[in-house]
Amino acid sequence: MLFVQKYGGTSLADGDRIRKAARRAVGLARQGHQVVVVVSAQGDTTDLLIEKAIQVNRRGSAREMDAYLAAGEQMAAGLVAMAIGAMGHPAVSLTGWQAGIATDGAHGNARITNIDTGRIRQELAGGKIVVVAGFQGRDPEGDITTLGRGGSDTTAVALAGYLRADKCQIFTDVDGVYDRDPRLYPDAIRFGRIPYDAMLELIENGAQVLHDRSVELAREYGIVVEVLSAFTGEPGTLVGDLE
Ligand code: ADP
Ligand code: ASP
Ligand code: MG
Repeated sequence: MLFVQKYGGTSLADGDRIRKAARRAVGLARQGHQVVVVVSAQGDTTDLLIEKAIQVNRRGSAREMDAYLAAGEQMAAGLVAMAIGAMGHPAVSLTGWQAGIATDGAHGNARITNIDTGRIRQELAGGKIVVVAGFQGRDPEGDITTLGRGGSDTTAVALAGYLRADKCQIFTDVDGVYDRDPRLYPDAIRFGRIPYDAMLELIENGAQVLHDRSVELAREYGIVVEVLSAFTGEPGTLVGDLE
């Protein structure tokens, strides 16, 4: 099977968590599966980078902001690939553009227009775990773009679609999708399964657990997305319509 597994910032915040994600990918690869890991920037890196950028230029160009912010995901991808290597399994990290992710030119909120999966396919065929920097792509000018806050989810779902992955898993810091933010409402109820439209409605009402475009893409491609805890790996919430 081909797995696409995405990790959010909190789920990669330190070395132990990076190793936990790496171990999960290596475990699958050793069972004979192909694995693409999509990563966000570690912890609150993106917020810190935005603060720093504002310190030097309150109205910096969107092009430069994208070039700067994309580095957060690139660093995380390199670290995860190195952690996998340390476990004795071959891995390669790829930036969004190395992974063939083409977007429009809307800096800061770009849309994925195409993915040329050649390089990823080649690396998978060579037995490697492929670690892709989320949240980024390359526009028709050849410039780096970013997909909007939370956009690594969209990278993962788009890759799952173009690669025809068997599983698309979004690992995060809660164990699934709830009817309300479980951090604010301890009595929130977790869904075992939630249809695309209901998920989009939750997001519209402020649930940032998934990037809205990731759910739109999942619906378009008919991909069932699993949202689950990076810490336990226990089954989480399936986002998708029942057949
Ligand atoms: P990641 O860094 O993994 O992408 P996010 O912070 O983007 O994680 O999304 C996970 C967070 O979404 C959780 O920590 C939770 O507080 C919040 N959240 C808001 N609404 C919901 C909801 N309805 N169900 C689950 N989580 C929610
Ligand atoms: N690092 C980016 C953000 O903080 C993208 C993501 O986490 O999905 O918005
Ligand atoms: Mg997120």
